[in-house]
Amino acid sequence: MAHPPPDVPEDDCLPEYRHLFSPDLLQDKVAFITGGGSGIGFRIAEIFMRHGCHVVIASRSLPRVSAAARKLTAATGRRCLPLSLDVRAPPAILAAVDQALKEFGKIDILINCAAGNFLCPAGALSFNAFKTVMDIDTLGTFNVSRVVYEKFFRDHGGVIVNITATLGARGQVLQVHAGSAKAAVDAMTRHLAVEWGPQNIRVNSLAPGPISGTEGFRRLGGPQASMSGKFLASPLQRLGNKTEIAHSVLYLASPLASYVTGALLVVDGGAWLTFPNDIKLLADFASFSAKL
Ligand code: NAP
Repeated sequence: MAHPPPDVPEDDCLPEYRHLFSPDLLQDKVAFITGGGSGIGFRIAEIFMRHGCHVVIASRSLPRVSAAARKLTAATGRRCLPLSLDVRAPPAILAAVDQALKEFGKIDILINCAAGNFLCPAGALSFNAFKTVMDIDTLGTFNVSRVVYEKFFRDHGGVIVNITATLGARGQVLQVHAGSAKAAVDAMTRHLAVEWGPQNIRVNSLAPGPISGTEGFRRLGGPQASMSGKFLASPLQRLGNKTEIAHSVLYLASPLASYVTGALLVVDGGAWLTFPNDIKLLADFASFSAKL
């Protein structure tokens, strides 16, 4: 007999989540998180800090990451350094990584979470719009990985988790730019895992599904985004929440995944297997497309 579709679990550090992992799983580790001032990246920072980690959160807007850092430190008691950088600008990345190393003396974990996206039919997408998404998502991921590798991971090892998406797995309407950019990042994950594995660097991708309460889902989720947390077209029949993504990133970044590299972990309630990919449903939504 079919059960009624479940609600999205509270997106918070609920008491039952608290003892899922040891609170010192990342004790005194240091994580560098791009896009850590908002949405999924912010929650990754929070969950890492609740597991003993210090973090650097970096994105373009200094006021945004500074406000986020104050909140995170107040909530967890761990150190959080906010830095301004554009992942498209190698000099800014070099300066930010230097500053992080000066503050903490090391970086153990890199989370590439910064991205830009919007809905647009391929035929109406400007050359520049396609390039911008590739620049932020794909080149940005390479730029930051390359700098952290050169300045620390090459000699000390480390862990990289790239936040991608399942868009390119089957091809999705209105998303040729982001699907192409994220698919390239998943390929980069495998290349870097192979090339840097001998230096004790693990590299994995994590692809979230539709996640409630995020900017990404508000802009890309079509009519579903304004509805309740139900998502009947997916096997688990609900949206995910940010904490569920952060816990999966925590697993990949921690010693629990010490033998996992070059992998893509899909965390989407099975949505990529069944999502209808409905152009009519999403088309009305495409006008909300300025997110760069
Ligand atoms: P979000 O809150 O908009 O996060 C994107 C972050 O990237 C922002 O903090 C933004 O900060 C930063 N950013 C954008 N361009 C940048 C640049 N050029 N340089 C440095 N930082 C930049 O979105 P989200 O929905 O939480 O998404 C987080 C990640 O999950 C993204 O990689 C996204 O593709 C992925 N994802 C999300 C969903 C979802 O349902 N939300 C689904 C699949 C995948 P500034 O504006 O301050 O730079």
